[in-house]
Amino acid sequence: MSFSKNHTQFREKNEVLGKTLYLVATPIGNLADISERALKVLSEVDFVAAEDTRNTGLLLSRFGISKSMVSYFEHNKRERGEIIVSRIEAGESCALVTDAGTPAISDPGEDIVRLCAERGVNVVSVPGPCAAICALTLSALSTGRFAFEGFISTNKSERRERLTELAIDKRTLIIYEAPHKLKTTLDDLYKYFGDRKITLCRELTKLNEEAFRTTIASAIEFYKENDPRGEYVLVIEGAPEKSESDYPEDVTEHVNMFIDSGLDRMSAMKTAAKQRGVSKSDIYKSYVSEN
Ligand code: SAM
Repeated sequence: MSFSKNHTQFREKNEVLGKTLYLVATPIGNLADISERALKVLSEVDFVAAEDTRNTGLLLSRFGISKSMVSYFEHNKRERGEIIVSRIEAGESCALVTDAGTPAISDPGEDIVRLCAERGVNVVSVPGPCAAICALTLSALSTGRFAFEGFISTNKSERRERLTELAIDKRTLIIYEAPHKLKTTLDDLYKYFGDRKITLCRELTKLNEEAFRTTIASAIEFYKENDPRGEYVLVIEGAPEKSESDYPEDVTEHVNMFIDSGLDRMSAMKTAAKQRGVSKSDIYKSYVSEN
C-alpha cells in the first residue's frame, strides 16, 4: 500500500500502534467510500472485532486483506468486550468494525469504548461514512442544530415519553428506522408532531439512493400505496418557534393537554415545564394549588 508516500508529514499519527482500539468506519453501501486510512489500519492491526464476521470478511477480501477476526455484537458484547480489551492491554491492536458506518453510532461500539475509557486503554477513531450525517446533508432541512435519536424505542411508554419530549424540540431531528416499522413510525410522528417537513433517505450511497423530501402527512399517503424498501434515515424539521401564547396560559390546562395526549401526570408536568422554560417544581406547585 502506498499510503505513506504522499503523507509523510502524517506518518507518526498514521502508524498503527499496539495497545490500541481503532474504531474503523466502513461504507454504508458504496465500497468506494472506504478510506485509505481505514484500509491501512485494517491491514496492520493484530485482529479485527466485527459485528458480523461474514460481512466484514467479504469487505476485507474485496480489498485483499486477510486478518484474524472475532465477533463482537449486541448479544456477546459483555464477555467478548472484556476479552478484546484484555488482549489490547496485553499489547495487541484491534480494529472494531460494525455492520456499516461509524462504530459506536447506534451499535454496540459504544460499550467497548466505555470499557476502554474505564481501563485507561487508548482508543483512536478512524472517521468515515455515517448514515445519519449523510442523510442530514441531503435533507434540505436546517443543519445548524440537530438531534440524533437513533432508533426510537418500540416500548410503548418509552416511545410516548420520547416523542412527547421531541415534539417541542426546535432542532432538526434524525432517526433510524427499519422498513417494516416505517409506517407505524410515520403515524406516530404525525400524532405527536403534526404535519412537518420530512426527508426520508434510503439506500444511501447505493445505486437506488433516494432522498424523498416531503411532509409527514404526504409520506403517510405515499406509503399507503407503496411498500417501504431498504433501511431508512428520517430527517424531520424541528418544532416551529412558539411564542408564549401558543400554549394555554393556564398551567392546569397546559399539563392536561399533555395528559390528554397520553402522558402520565409527572411526564406531562415535566414537558409543560420545559415548554414554559420554568422548573418542574414551579409547575407542580401551580398544578396542585389549582386542583
Ligand atoms: N453505525 C451506523 C452509522 O454510522 O450510520 C448505523 C448503524 S444502525 C445499526 C443501522 C441503521 O443505519 C439502519 O437501520 C438505517 O437506519 C441506517 N443506515 C445504514 N446504512 C444506510 C443506508 N445505506 N441508507 C439508509 N440508511 C442506512
